[in-house]
Formats: sequence, C-alpha cells, structure tokens
Amino acid sequence: MTDTEAKKFYDSKAWQTKRIEILKRDRFECQDCRARIQKAVAEGKWLPEKEKKIARANQVHHIQELKEHPELALDNDNLISLCVRCHNIRHGRVPHKFKRKKKLASRERW
Ligand SMILES: [Zn+2]
Ligand SMILES: [Zn+2]
Repeated sequence: MTDTEAKKFYDSKAWQTKRIEILKRDRFECQDCRARIQKAVAEGKWLPEKEKKIARANQVHHIQELKEHPELALDNDNLISLCVRCHNIRHGRVPHKFKRKKKLASRERW
C-alpha cells in the first residue's frame, strides 16, 4: 500500500467507524498501559501512583502495519487501542517529555 492509499484509508468512513468500534471494545483504555500495569502487579513490582493509571486511549494502532498488510486493515485482531504516549513508543517515536521523566526518576534515591 502506498502513502496516498494509506492516507485515503485513514480518511475513509470504514476506518472512522472501525476506530470507534475498537476504542469501545477496549473501553477507551490504552492496552499497553494496561498490560504494563498488569505485568508489574503480577511481578509484585512497586509502581508510582501516576504510573498506575491506565491512560485514555484515543488512537487505534495496526499491530501488523497497514502498509505491509492492507488485508488486515479492518481486522479486529490486528487493531489495538493506545494512548498517544504508548503509540509513539510502538512506532519508536519517543517524546522528549517521556525521556526527561525517565532521567528524573533515575536520580531518585532509594
Ligand atoms: Zn498507554
Ligand atoms: Zn500505529
């Protein structure tokens, strides 16, 4: 799939409808935040209060990239609701804010 085709897809009515369907399915909760918290709880790890909150999802991500797998574009199993932060991480775009926060945390003394 080309960039133009991908853009067209994201503008399509079919995607707009599917997007809402997936967000509703995931109860507007970021699935990566949820998984991270669940994992920490399972491992008995301590999490700071603000890390315990599942961020509100407002993005729907294609697990198998749209351009590589256009046939999975509207496949429920290929779609996952994410918050902006987790979505950026999935695409390797680490926001500055997040980086700074990490640095700050490492300065904390135990
Ligand atoms: Zn998240
Ligand atoms: Zn994505």
